[in-house]
Amino acid sequence: MKLAAARRRSLPSAEPCADGASPYATITDHHRSGIANVTRRLLILFALVAGLVAACGLTYSIAWQRGIDSLRHNAAVRVDRTASALKSTLERYESLPYLLAEHPLVQDVLVNPSPANVERANLYLEDLNRHARATVTYIIPLDGYCVAASNWQGPGSFIGAGYQFRPYFLDAVKGGVGRFFGIGTISQAPGYYISQPVRRDGKIVGAAVVKLDLEWFQGADAAEPLVVTDDHGVIFLSSVPAWKYHTIRPLSGQVADSIYQARQYAQQPIAPLPVTIERMLAGNAQIVRIGGGRYAPRYLASRRGMGEPDWHLITMSPLDPVDAQARNATIATGFGYVSLVLLAFYWRMRRARVREVMRSRALLQKAYAELNRRVAERTADLSQANEQLHKEVAERTRAEQELRAAHDELIQASKLAALGQMAAGITHELNQPLAALRGFSDNTRVLLERGDQASARENLEAIAALTERMGKITNQLKLFVGRARPRNARAPIVRALRNVIALLQKRLQGVEVEFALLDTGSGARTLLNLADDHPQLIANCDDLRLEQVLINLLGNALDATAGMTPPRISIEIEVADATVSFAVGDNGHGIPDDVLPRLFEPFFTTKEMGQGLGLGLAISSSIARDCGGTLVARNAPDGGGALFVLTLRRVRVQTSQTSDPLTTGS
Ligand code: ADP
Repeated sequence: MKLAAARRRSLPSAEPCADGASPYATITDHHRSGIANVTRRLLILFALVAGLVAACGLTYSIAWQRGIDSLRHNAAVRVDRTASALKSTLERYESLPYLLAEHPLVQDVLVNPSPANVERANLYLEDLNRHARATVTYIIPLDGYCVAASNWQGPGSFIGAGYQFRPYFLDAVKGGVGRFFGIGTISQAPGYYISQPVRRDGKIVGAAVVKLDLEWFQGADAAEPLVVTDDHGVIFLSSVPAWKYHTIRPLSGQVADSIYQARQYAQQPIAPLPVTIERMLAGNAQIVRIGGGRYAPRYLASRRGMGEPDWHLITMSPLDPVDAQARNATIATGFGYVSLVLLAFYWRMRRARVREVMRSRALLQKAYAELNRRVAERTADLSQANEQLHKEVAERTRAEQELRAAHDELIQASKLAALGQMAAGITHELNQPLAALRGFSDNTRVLLERGDQASARENLEAIAALTERMGKITNQLKLFVGRARPRNARAPIVRALRNVIALLQKRLQGVEVEFALLDTGSGARTLLNLADDHPQLIANCDDLRLEQVLINLLGNALDATAGMTPPRISIEIEVADATVSFAVGDNGHGIPDDVLPRLFEPFFTTKEMGQGLGLGLAISSSIARDCGGTLVARNAPDGGGALFVLTLRRVRVQTSQTSDPLTTGS
């Protein structure tokens, strides 16, 4: 069944399955689960990538915002500091033109520009300028041409120069304070001009002007540009020289014209700075890109108004460090994210592995416990079996002892039975000679009374013969009386045969008996002459017991051949190196097949009641075993009756006679 199912799985056919589903269903399911797996993995991958992008984006945004905040803070600090420094510089000189305007020498030279007054005014201005550390100090009468200046002696003296177009002059002669940044018309150096009207008797007679050099400002850190724009958005101070005199917002024609007219920036063209505003931030801050192209630098522009004058201070903080910082933070987050994901994967794999190991360990422990249980069970079984075996061995030993005792008893009983038979035979044998003896003795007495000596002597000789015969018969009884004597392990074979023949002499009358000797080594078969002792033919057995076995075998052969014409019995002795065997055959009826397996059972007999006890073969086989030999039975192959073979160990005798050839005879 399983095989069939497996084959169905491995070789899908077009036949429908038992449940009616298509045989391809399992494959489709498999594919479906594979696709689901792939989809799930893709989704996880997508989620991870989305997580990575989100984390990077968030990090970039937060880091960038933080960078911008910090930049703005720094820029604010810087712009405040620079603005206050600039303001304090300007304020320091704010009152100087006023003081100048109040001085009598200044007023005098404006009212009366005599050479003496001019000289005095020049000296005064020179001294004042030196001590105030201003750039240039000078006086302009209402006609606009400078009359006295602190630099009266130098090659670039302002004396005589016309300032009618300058806004600060115009403001002052109008009675106001003039404040102006511009490029000097004589010196061509940029400077900040502060002017005050000079009055005499309440009437404006000219203007007192102080010019300040603000070049220190330009030495500010160029890496973080700082610019100052005027009220029109024109950059007039910049730490980046290239940005100077550019405008951050387009100028109207009128404004451009007024700048030109005032020669504020020495007639230079005021071009707009290429600024692109990328983003407006809170608090006057902007993200701007200055220059063209994608790679133009970006800045955070922070603006601060100066108040009076209407200038604006703008710091340009480069965004590159912020971008780089945000980028680095993003990269670090990306790495961190990937590391975390890898760590999570590793942890997941490790957990799965640990779970696998734990499961294997549990299985192993279970298997170990099962093994222990089985070993314990098996050990218990073995112990039980061992105990049982011990019991059985003890029982068997006891049974063997009982059997041995029973065997001994049986042997004894058999002997008694044989003795009884023999006694009957002997009684029968003796009765006849005894009757003859009685007859002969009565007859002899009559003959003696008659004086017939010769006949009496004949009778006496017959009596002597009879008594000798009777003596022979009684002698056989000794064979079975030998139980008391110690057993002998050497049984001369020919003598044993002779004794057996003598015992069965009466029954053997009319029976053809043949004794043969078979030499296994040479294969020679010769008739055995019982008249010779053949001392080399000695079996390793008690002689009486050997005779008992032979009597039994011959007795059975005689029984089996009774009624045969002629009855024939052969006894073949086969001599090998270590063994000697007696094959007793007859031409009787043989042993039926159903009898053969039971022959050696005690009390098994096929003879009529009173004819046999069924002990003969059981005892004989037991004797053979005791002597270390065997007794087997079979039918002769040619259907010629039974054949019993008794095999015993042979006792080898080292005498000169052993080399003699076996004597043959009938
Ligand atoms: P018993 O002679 O008292 O019957 P045995 O043990 O000597 O007891 O023999 C058992 C049986 O073996 C006999 O009854 C007989 O049937 C069978 N048997 C023994 N020897 C022969 C033989 N030579 N031929 C046929 N049958 C035999």
